[in-house]
Amino acid sequence: MIGHSCILIVAVAEIALSSYNRAAKNIMEEEKRFISGIVPPSERTGPAWWFAFLESKLLIYPGSDLVSVPFLVDFSELGLIAVSQHYLGHLDDRDCYAVELAEGTVLPPGIALEGLRQIYGRLDETLFWVATRAVQIVDWDRTHLFCGRCATPLRTKGAERAKECPICGQLHFPRLAPAIIVLVERGGELLLARSRHFLSGMYSVLAGFVEPGESLEEAVVREVKEEVGIDVKDIKYFGSQPWPFPHSLMIGFTATYAGGEISLDDSEIEDAGWFTADHLPRIPGKISIARKLIDWFVEKKGSSPKKAIP
Ligand SMILES: [Zn+2]
Repeated sequence: MIGHSCILIVAVAEIALSSYNRAAKNIMEEEKRFISGIVPPSERTGPAWWFAFLESKLLIYPGSDLVSVPFLVDFSELGLIAVSQHYLGHLDDRDCYAVELAEGTVLPPGIALEGLRQIYGRLDETLFWVATRAVQIVDWDRTHLFCGRCATPLRTKGAERAKECPICGQLHFPRLAPAIIVLVERGGELLLARSRHFLSGMYSVLAGFVEPGESLEEAVVREVKEEVGIDVKDIKYFGSQPWPFPHSLMIGFTATYAGGEISLDDSEIEDAGWFTADHLPRIPGKISIARKLIDWFVEKKGSSPKKAIP
């Protein structure tokens, strides 16, 4: 009997693990066709994808259901002025560029500007994730004009995604703010919380920025303790996702309840509780790793998410 139990446990563990890996793998599938690059080709032989931004809004061709981005040999074909242009790499065999539009740009008919969150699900998924790179490069470029140490105008550093101060030599790289996001399980339940700035009725898994000097696992333990007052154990890596609002990298984990009662950090969290897979509140949309964590839990429990926004 003991032998059979072991086999069963191993089999269940394998099913759970394969589901876990699949959920995590899917996060990055969208980007597998994109190869990052910094130095543009010396000659452009065909059309390229152009990700042009005014502030954080992307220039698109709107459609009734779907939107697209310009696919042109040169951005100047649109008759718009680019303040800066950055090579991003190539998608399949097509080059990709990020462009910053001049303030006050007047768009010709048939072109619009929209926020990235608003176009998720309407722009091709792969193009969408390239756009999330583009918006961060443009944002970094326009907010790093001068050296933070000596205030000298910066110059681009050759073949690196970096800027260099010509006086003091200080290097300035694109900003990236790592944040952990964690699904906490207790038996057949998961912990969901409601932040004060969430959409009405929406709950999600806990997340928070990593502090300097802190490991990701320490950040998981601290955030859960600070926000809802409980202890966690068995912290396992789930997957990661760029989150360009404005420049985060979400690193996903699962963890198991280890003790304590829910006690809210009132400044951050409005409500929190334990939920089962078949009685979920409103949860985040499919763009987020939060949703992928919740979907993984629901799939593991053999149910389908309810009340989810698309
Ligand atoms: Zn300097």
